[in-house]
Order: sequence, then structure tokens, then C-alpha cells
Amino acid sequence: MATQKVLGILGGGQLAQMMALAAIPLGIKCHIYEPDPLAPARLCAIHHCAPYDDEAALRQFAAAVDVITYEFENVPVDCGTFLRTLKPVAPGIAALRICQDRLLEKTFARDLGFTTAPFVDLVASLTSADAIAAVGLPAILKTRRLGYDGKGQQTVHTIAELDTARACYEGHPLILEGFVTFAHEVSIIAARAADGTTVRFPLIQNTHHHGILRTAVAPAPCSTKGLEQDADRMMQTVMHAFGYIGVLSIECFVVETTQGPTLVINEFAPRVHNSGHWSIEGARTSQFAYHVRAVTGLILPDVTLHGVAAMCNLIGDEPDDSEIPPDVFVHRYHKAPRPRRKVGHLTMVSSTHDNVTHLLQHCAQLLGVKIS
Ligand code: AMP
Repeated sequence: MATQKVLGILGGGQLAQMMALAAIPLGIKCHIYEPDPLAPARLCAIHHCAPYDDEAALRQFAAAVDVITYEFENVPVDCGTFLRTLKPVAPGIAALRICQDRLLEKTFARDLGFTTAPFVDLVASLTSADAIAAVGLPAILKTRRLGYDGKGQQTVHTIAELDTARACYEGHPLILEGFVTFAHEVSIIAARAADGTTVRFPLIQNTHHHGILRTAVAPAPCSTKGLEQDADRMMQTVMHAFGYIGVLSIECFVVETTQGPTLVINEFAPRVHNSGHWSIEGARTSQFAYHVRAVTGLILPDVTLHGVAAMCNLIGDEPDDSEIPPDVFVHRYHKAPRPRRKVGHLTMVSSTHDNVTHLLQHCAQLLGVKIS
């Protein structure tokens, strides 16, 4: 048997769980570095359970692996920078640093020539009236860091509401974004190898509920040839700018213009993404397998889909096996149920969008959720 690499993953949540499960058939073993003793990925990888600033534990982790990746973008940059002195870290630290700060991220996207929502750095000296004059109303106040699944953000409709919201987040760096009137939400997921080879899934169409991803369908029913070309160009440009290795995800709004639909960047995720979970059953090579392959130096096979696929998140609670239709795949994350917590997901694959939509509606009904 060929000598295969050992992959270290910073973070041990469900993304690390699915990465480790994709690594095993490739002959790659995983270690996770994760402070939570009950992290989902502990069940399928060797667990280094220590804080992110514990240098001795980080050294031990680095000594046990050949290459290090991360499953979430809020790994402290100092931790990544320290580990990089010991073992290769992919994707690189630049992606980590930029993607964990909404201001840096939006500035980076705009500087590359892409459209984002209008935004301003909500520094203390900027009055709410001036901030709103810059981005319009309604507007969304967001913490620059550590915001995800709708956390750390608030929609405001007046200057007074913005004043109140700012007071709630005192001490946190903030940005204010103009509201984008979008027709759809989509994501772009691609993988890039060290030699620059890139593969990309077709656009994925997403729905959210209270800021949390609820469903994803691939290929996106709203997609057009023009949008796919724009997605290609966007991915190539961003990945090249980062010197990226691994899977990168870009969340976008589709906005209708007189020239047709266009992509407006919402945010980057320098990692595998919830909207790509359908690829475990829906594609010959899943996003997890692509990521493991890219960061460990294996070749990236072409994208092959098994049909139309969809994913529905299990949020807060999970159904019993007996309730799940036989043609639906279930993935559980071994997490205690809690409101707004992602505890698993369902996947369905079929030959047509109609069939998949039918299955998705059935699952939504089962979960008691409304999907549009
Ligand atoms: P985020 O945490 O930035 O991904 O935001 C979560 C969700 O809030 C997005 O998927 C959108 O549904 C919505 N959202 C965020 N920013 C905006 C915006 N500037 N305009 C309209 N909707 C937004």
C-alpha cells in the first residue's frame, strides 16, 4: 500500500466529521484539534482536546500529522500562524485572516472588482445618519467577526434603530450593510490543487430561515449559462488572489438587472460548506473528498453529478429513522438537540428537479418547516 498522509484538522464539528469520513477510503487518517471533548468528529478521528493557544498541545498535534487544514474560519489566526512554522497549513493564513472579518472580506471582494452589498466600517466616530446615508435603508448591522447563522446581525429601518442596535453591540467592531433585494441566494463551491488545477460544482440554490441555511438544491434551478460563467470567473480570481489550496465557498445573492441576473458576493467560507453536503450522495467526488484530496496533494477528478440533489438541514431536533422516507439519506452529527443548532441533514438525489423538489417538500412537511 502506498504511504498516505495523515491530515490534521483544526476544529472537530460536523464538517471535520464528514471530512474524516471522506479521508478514510483515500487511505488518509485524520487527527482533529478541538477544545470541545464532545465534538462530533471525535468519533472518526484521533482527538487532540486542548485550547487553541496551548503551544505544547499544538506542537504535539503538528508532530502527529503531515498537513493541517481547518474546518471553520474562526480558528485564531495566531494558532494557524504558529502551526505553519511546523507543518504546511492549507488553505493559507491569508484566507483565514480575511474570511474571519466581514470588513476585510468585503473590501477584498470589492478590490478584486466584484459587487458586494454597499457597506461602511461602523467606527465610533461615524454617526448613524452618515452611515445610513452611505448604504441606504433598510440596512443590516453586522459584527465584523464571529457572526454566523444569522448571529451578530440586526436589520434596522431608521437612524434611531441603528443607534439602539449599535449600543447593544458596544465594544464589537461593526459594519453596516445596505439591504440587497435579491431574487435568489446561491453558493459557489470549488476546489483548487497546489498546481492550480480547479474543479467547481454547478451553482447551488439555497434558502435560509432566520439567517440559517435550511435547504440547498444542485444544480441551482435559477442558474443560467451567464451566471455559471460569472461564477467561474469569480472563483478563479478569488482562488488565484489567495494562492488557494482546498475547497472554497462563496455565498452570493442573485440580483435581477436590466442586463439579466448578476451575482453579488455576500461572504466567503475558506472551507467546505453546508450548502455542499448534498455532494456526498449527489456527486462522484464530494466536497469533502475534494478538500482532502487538494490539501494532501492528490489529483482532483472532474465533477460528476449523479443527478439533481437537495439537502435539508435538521435544525434544533432530529426525526426518528422510522419517519424518514427510504429514498432519503440521513446524516446525524451526534450533537445534543438545542434550538437553532444544526444537528444533522437529509439528502435526496433524483433524475429531475421536480422529483427532488417533491422529496424536499415531503421532508419539510415531516420536519414541520416551511420551504419556499
Ligand atoms: P450572513 O450571516 O451574512 O451569511 O447572512 C445570513 C443571511 O441573511 C443571508 O443568507 C441572507 O439571507 C441575509 N442577508 C445577509 N446580508 C444581507 C444583505 N446585505 N441584504 C439582504 N439579505 C442579507
